[in-house]
Amino acid sequence: MSIFVVGGGEHMLAFVTQSSGEKGQLPVTMVPLAWTPLGVAIGDGWQRVLVDEDNVAGWLDQTFVPEDERAFVAALGELELLRRIGWKDEVPAQLSEEQVLNLADLPEDVVDALDSPLLPITRCAACRRSCVKDEFVWQERQLCAWDWHRSVFGRRGPWRMPSYNRAQFSDAPSAGYVVPALAEEAGAEVLMLLGRVDPELAYDVVSTLLQRLGEGSFITVSTDTGWVLLRERA
Ligand SMILES: [Zn+2]
Repeated sequence: MSIFVVGGGEHMLAFVTQSSGEKGQLPVTMVPLAWTPLGVAIGDGWQRVLVDEDNVAGWLDQTFVPEDERAFVAALGELELLRRIGWKDEVPAQLSEEQVLNLADLPEDVVDALDSPLLPITRCAACRRSCVKDEFVWQERQLCAWDWHRSVFGRRGPWRMPSYNRAQFSDAPSAGYVVPALAEEAGAEVLMLLGRVDPELAYDVVSTLLQRLGEGSFITVSTDTGWVLLRERA
């Protein structure tokens, strides 16, 4: 299977698997993208649109506008060569690096993501950036990593005193992961990373440490890989 990526940007990647279509309408597959602090996430829920074959360049300019700093557009000369040989392939269910005929046209971050599993993509309730669904939820709102870190570790975040009890601990915020640099920007520093242990043990470890520290404000986050304890920066 082979695909030709015609362009992409902040929210989408567009590819074709044939160089011309019926009645001059080229089928283009639109794949959701999200740019996260860990790299690009490739979304599920692909859509097919029909683009006038004679206006692929114009369509690309309108779809991946220059104001989008992530926008990139392929060199279409190669698509013209593929048209001459009557190239046509199946639409794959998954993307992979080896399918892409024009890897050189793609930003490195997108190439790095090609072989990753597809994830559900949504929009951040605060800034409308595309983000991975359920990775960062705060007060029932889907957020991007940046807004989640700002909300949780900001002044009004769920900071706890060292005498933090078990019930408060069980309400600890959860997230896919914590990005130390983003926590730092929001006003928190990472004190401890703990692997995947049960909440009872995590609470015992955290409360022992907090008692010894004696003062400050803290947040424990439950993540996909365990627990992160952070302290509010003075
Ligand atoms: Zn956001």
